[in-house]
Amino acid sequence: MSPLDILKKYWGYDNFRPLQQEIVNSVLSGHDTLGLMPTGGGKSITFQVPALLMEGITVVVTPLISLMKDQVDNLKKRRIKAVFFHSGMSAEDRRKSRELIYNAKAKFIYTSPERLRNPGFIQELRMMKISMIVVDEAHCISQWGYDFRPAYLHIKNLRKIAPDAPVLALTATATPQVADDICRQLLMKDPVVFRMSFSRKNLNYIVRNSETKINEVFHILSRTSGSSIVYVRSRKRTREIADYLCQMGISATFYHAGLDYDVKALRQNEWQKGNVRVMVATNAFGMGIDKPDVRVVIHYDTPPSLEEYYQEAGRAGRDGLKSYVVLLRAKSDAGVLRRRVTENFPEREFIKKLYERVCNFLKISIGEGYDNLYPFDLDKFCKTFNYQQRQCLSALHILSQSGYIEFLEETEYRSRVLITMQREDLYDLRGISQNSEIVLQKILRLYTGLFIDYVDISETIISTETNLTSEEIYTALLELSRAKVLSFIPKTRTSYIYLPTSREEPRYLSIPRTVYEDRREIISGRVEAMIGYADDSAGCRESAILRYFGEEPIENCGRCDRCRAGGSRSKKEKLTKENLIPEILNFISSRPYGVDFRIIDHHLSALASSKSLAETLSFLHNEGYIKLENGAYFLAE
Ligand code: ADP
Ligand code: MG
Repeated sequence: MSPLDILKKYWGYDNFRPLQQEIVNSVLSGHDTLGLMPTGGGKSITFQVPALLMEGITVVVTPLISLMKDQVDNLKKRRIKAVFFHSGMSAEDRRKSRELIYNAKAKFIYTSPERLRNPGFIQELRMMKISMIVVDEAHCISQWGYDFRPAYLHIKNLRKIAPDAPVLALTATATPQVADDICRQLLMKDPVVFRMSFSRKNLNYIVRNSETKINEVFHILSRTSGSSIVYVRSRKRTREIADYLCQMGISATFYHAGLDYDVKALRQNEWQKGNVRVMVATNAFGMGIDKPDVRVVIHYDTPPSLEEYYQEAGRAGRDGLKSYVVLLRAKSDAGVLRRRVTENFPEREFIKKLYERVCNFLKISIGEGYDNLYPFDLDKFCKTFNYQQRQCLSALHILSQSGYIEFLEETEYRSRVLITMQREDLYDLRGISQNSEIVLQKILRLYTGLFIDYVDISETIISTETNLTSEEIYTALLELSRAKVLSFIPKTRTSYIYLPTSREEPRYLSIPRTVYEDRREIISGRVEAMIGYADDSAGCRESAILRYFGEEPIENCGRCDRCRAGGSRSKKEKLTKENLIPEILNFISSRPYGVDFRIIDHHLSALASSKSLAETLSFLHNEGYIKLENGAYFLAE
């Protein structure tokens, strides 16, 4: 069978999308490959199709448990066998996955990167024939990426045990720097890189200055039509804005990570079907949504990087029809963003103290805890020590980057039910309440497979179907469980802390400069690039985005607000070398401990291309204005 036959047979699609076929062919001929394709471009197909043509099993590394589940479910629907592993899974679930691999000859193993650190797991993988290694969201492996996850570095372990399997790395957002880094970190041999243009001809980029953003949101939505998303950075505000829009007669709902699984699924579904027009959401909304006809994406708050902005804005207009992406900007926004960078880096002493406290809180003694996973109640921890949650999360993040602690944020498990009673006996139940009777009958009607294994159930659906409240359903399920009719595992939301190394003595705890100072520079560089994008003196918005992602735009887009205002050419030409010199010297002099090229490039990318920066730096170096030591530039005395 050819790749196209596979695509038709399992997915029922008639053609490959741009670059899909190229990537498929590349991995099939055994090349290490990097595919850069915007969100929604169809990256999954690029490994799922060739995997089915290869002998053996494909290992897919992916960062989010929810994504993993979605993908595995999706494959199952197409009668393709796939399993997943992650650190938060019970031993029992793991055993089941393992059985599927051996008995049912699964074609895909999805795994979290954390899992790859486990020697037992690696040993198991070693016994299998691995046909290909796929790294989804590959930017997570790079320190320079906007979402670095140290656990991604364990992918090297996987490479070692399957040195001949080609690697396919996929991401939607990678600056040239990050792309290079991905190839290096994944030990790719002569990688073939496919890059899809980041230009989206149907998107109109707009920045609106507004001090009364909520009115502006209403204004925009009332003059446009079609499905829309409003991105906000606070959970509380998602509700406020949705309420306001509803009052003003625009149908809207809201979404954020704090809502119950069921509620989220329900709202997403209503929006997806077009029953609700506007989704007001935090960035938790987006992964895995695939709605082609989103006409407007509004950013109420400025995201901290162009990577995130582009990804979120890019949810508009998947169908290729004209769509608007609007960033709302108030005078104070830049300040808020910059302040947040500082907040993300609490003092080292604070971080060390927090490490001690977390370990004590979890009752881990010095020298213990290696490779253990602990349920962690963040709220309680913060209350106990009087921490603000944001502060605490920042510190945990840095500790995780330093390799001491990994914080796995709230994984949500749905309620599960397994009927333990014999089917015949179910029709002759005595002594249970009417509610329990109703709930039981409803479950039997709604779900299948209940007698064989635990089945995920949805309280929300049962509630709409029965008019009982969640509490009543919960009580009924408990009663049924006590009556030995069924076994009920209530849903939980738990965060975990994982220790990749045993607890360190305080005096040996070190937070390296690479995860502190360097990283702060990188983050602040990204924030500055984002602020620069929103700046009115900037040129064509699309060109700015393309340049950021390493594409040299051929012409201005002609669609964004700057192009329409006609001001895009004249205002911001790239600086000439003479003008660039003071900018560079200024920047280097503000960094007394030296600064390496990548950071200069990050900060000054809005002013000049990497090439002219490098040329100017080498000129300054030759002329003796600056010196270069261990890869860092300093001002010459
Ligand atoms: P990405 O990972 O790049 O964001 P996905 O792999 O999730 O994108 O694919 C986005 C959507 O496009 C999915 O619904 C997928 O089924 C669909 N899709 C992918 N390839 C094709 C194709 N060749 N023809 C039609 N639909 C496709
Ligand atoms: Mg994807």
